Amino acid sequence: MVTLIVVEHNNQVMHPVTRHVVSAGMQLNSPCVLLVMGFNCTSVAEEAAKLSGTAEVWLVDDSAFEHQLPENMAQVIANLSSKFNAVLVSSSTFGKNLLPRVAALLDAAQISDVTRVIDAETFEHPIYAGNAIETVQVLDTMRVLTIRATAFEGECDAQPACTIKKLSMDIAAQHSKWVKSELNQSTRPELTQAKIVVSGGRGLQNQESFQLIEKLADCLGGAVGASRAAVDAGFAPNDYQVGQTGKVVAPQLYIAIGISGAVQHLAGMKDSKVIVSINKDEDAPINQLASYYLVGDLFELVPKLIEKIKSQS
Ligand SMILES: Cc1cc2nc3c(=O)[nH]c(=O)nc-3n(C[C@H](O)[C@H](O)[C@H](O)COP(=O)(O)OP(=O)(O)OC[C@H]3O[C@@H](n4cnc5c(N)ncnc54)[C@H](O)[C@@H]3O)c2cc1C
Repeated sequence: MVTLIVVEHNNQVMHPVTRHVVSAGMQLNSPCVLLVMGFNCTSVAEEAAKLSGTAEVWLVDDSAFEHQLPENMAQVIANLSSKFNAVLVSSSTFGKNLLPRVAALLDAAQISDVTRVIDAETFEHPIYAGNAIETVQVLDTMRVLTIRATAFEGECDAQPACTIKKLSMDIAAQHSKWVKSELNQSTRPELTQAKIVVSGGRGLQNQESFQLIEKLADCLGGAVGASRAAVDAGFAPNDYQVGQTGKVVAPQLYIAIGISGAVQHLAGMKDSKVIVSINKDEDAPINQLASYYLVGDLFELVPKLIEKIKSQS
């Protein structure tokens, strides 16, 4: 029996989160097999085969999986279930979309957002917006786990590369069909991978002022995040949201501007290495977590900060 790890990718390159999922997978003490499903994605399989800790790569390369629709992928993974007793994927949007479908097809209980592997059956994961850590022992023979990538070190490349096995699957049953994708094009680093994240909240007041956040992020080469209040008010797009119902980030530097620090926001950024807050209210809850905080009007402080950074670069 093996641990199956579903590789997140764009048909060309492997998403870095897979490295962290493999680290978690290795702690289950079974050989880790990486499953690459997509179309014209041999380069991804080759990249995955070099990852240390990988016993084998299974490649399902078919036009039916070009857009990696979870309804169709879940069925294939379920069809392979006699060959593995654990299936892992990152708790990214991709993983959250895919794994509950797999769990339902396998009639197994999913443990979401695992942050620690205690042993091969026992896992820790946050609950109540990260206010409590639950320890769960899985009694099913099948373990279905989404992994919080930021909680595990990423595996490096190792030589030589392992075997890539091409699987020919019966993919007659298609449950959904791709129609179109509307993607945000950005030159900034991806939010969950960025070393620096600058986030704005309701304190920004409107979409136009939110550009201050974008300018500061661009000066620092960082990604842009937002609180849910800022997203709901239309200052920032939905995929910028950090928090319990948004993305979980743990950058080297997280700058929260005009954000009060509600528990649901903290759930998405409290593992950041250095937290800086800019808020006019000294008693804002975020300041209790912050490594440094500046008390004052963001409309005065942020332009000065941008000017200073520009003058020094
Ligand atoms: C089920 C559920 C899930 C949720 N999920 C999320 C989530 O994923 N992410 C998330 O962020 N929230 C989430 N929320 C919402 C959360 O509870 C808060 O409402 C939200 O985080 C508040 O956003 P905010 O800090 O931007 O706004 P506020 O709480 O209104 O804070 C605004 C801050 O800006 C400061 N400010 C105002 N003007 C200025 C100025 N000129 N200069 C400096 N500072 C200024 C104020 O002092 C204040 O601290 C969730 C809520 C629920 C119930």
